[in-house]
Amino acid sequence: MTTPLQHTVKIYNTLNGELQTFQPIKAPFVGMYVCGPTVYSDVHLGNCRTFISFDLVYRYLSHLGYKVRYVRNITDAGHLENDADEGEDKISKKARLESLEPMEIVQKYTTGFHDVMRLFNAHPPSIEPTATGHIVEQIEMIQQIIDNGLAYIVNGSVYFDVTKYNASGDYGMLSGRKIDELISGTRDLDGQSEKRSPLDFALWKKASPSHIMRWNSPWSVGFPGWHLECSVMSTKYLGQQFDIHGGGMDLKFPHHECEIAQNKAAHGHHGVNYWMHANMLTLNGKRMSKSTGNTLLPGELFSGDNAVLSKAFSPSVVRFFMLQAHYRSVLDFSNDALLAAEKGYNRLMEALDRLKTLEATVTESSWSVTDWQHKCYAAMNEDFNSPILIAHLFDAVRFINAVADGTAGIAPQDLSTLQTAMPAFVFDVLGLEIQQGETQSQHLEQTLALLIRIRNHARADKNWALSDQIRDELASAGVILKDGKDGTTYTLKS
Ligand SMILES: [Zn+2]
Repeated sequence: MTTPLQHTVKIYNTLNGELQTFQPIKAPFVGMYVCGPTVYSDVHLGNCRTFISFDLVYRYLSHLGYKVRYVRNITDAGHLENDADEGEDKISKKARLESLEPMEIVQKYTTGFHDVMRLFNAHPPSIEPTATGHIVEQIEMIQQIIDNGLAYIVNGSVYFDVTKYNASGDYGMLSGRKIDELISGTRDLDGQSEKRSPLDFALWKKASPSHIMRWNSPWSVGFPGWHLECSVMSTKYLGQQFDIHGGGMDLKFPHHECEIAQNKAAHGHHGVNYWMHANMLTLNGKRMSKSTGNTLLPGELFSGDNAVLSKAFSPSVVRFFMLQAHYRSVLDFSNDALLAAEKGYNRLMEALDRLKTLEATVTESSWSVTDWQHKCYAAMNEDFNSPILIAHLFDAVRFINAVADGTAGIAPQDLSTLQTAMPAFVFDVLGLEIQQGETQSQHLEQTLALLIRIRNHARADKNWALSDQIRDELASAGVILKDGKDGTTYTLKS
């Protein structure tokens, strides 16, 4: 048995585009910060993927024996609509539209977010700080940046001076963007702007009379800029220099680039040793977008209530599906891919069940369990490569099934290794769960498949009375049949 901490983990670091050996600042402790959601609407499936990716990182490092402090924030103020420094605060806008107090919006969608993450079996972070709970610290950091000469005050707002900061050439170090190209890509300031350069970003904005969320500060009654909270809360709980910072790919620029700039301007360090970014989701090969209707919410996956789905999928199947892709690859959602994932997931769970009652029959196994275990760790050690781990788990499934059928043999020591390692990888590392009522739903599925077959025979015999009776009685029991070119499918009415 290997000692977990002997494993060498490699992480793809966005900072230099290389796989790097992971060396925590103070092993076995690890500090990890992940940008959390802006809680003004239902959590997006793409966000869920990001958080499940970092749940995998958290679970695997913990499995190896690291003591991970995992901080993930809640953005409940300051995130303006167009991600720049103009427009309305996303939460204030929703509050106005729904005639609610902003904190009611925050509470509602924070609770909804937690519910979804719990269904996905994602561990809660060790600390979940909010932007509104850290206004004092944000004001302190702004003051520090002003004192260090890298921010300026105009009409009660405070802006970060990107040009001055970039004297060191550091702006763009994460995203690889060049400051000259960035400037030529932006419109000229129209003379109305308070900023000295279009790349400058707000640390503090003076509130307009209509802005609901506002706090006192030395500069004005206003609110903090969105990028600031993550610099403040990550370094408050993890130290001025910490191990891992994660988030979705879309946050790399400008959000994370600005975080690095703020950290350096306030503390003299860039703040983070390993930057990790999770890739995005597509649906049927296209970008998800509310405006084109090409969108899928987590709740719709669990209920089957979306035109792109033929049925409901359990959260664990969806999680399994997501983990079949590496976190840095684009993942495409489709009904067929989910159906295939469900089959695979069921095979995996059945094999785990079989493994419990397997008996050792030989003194030397016909397949090397030790090699297999090494390969599983090697996959995860290489930048948390869950799809390769899953491929190895299916090699074990084939072996387990062969032993159960009597076509292969397993020795006692190997059986005990497999009985420990399989559940550890499946439940502890990948975070999959045996879904409650799984067996019942499998029985239900088989029964429905039988009824659909009988109805298809009736239709082939032109026995419309029987086929309509089956359709109508199932409908009154809440099972809606749909006849399509690929055969008959069903949805369950909740
Ligand atoms: Zn952030």
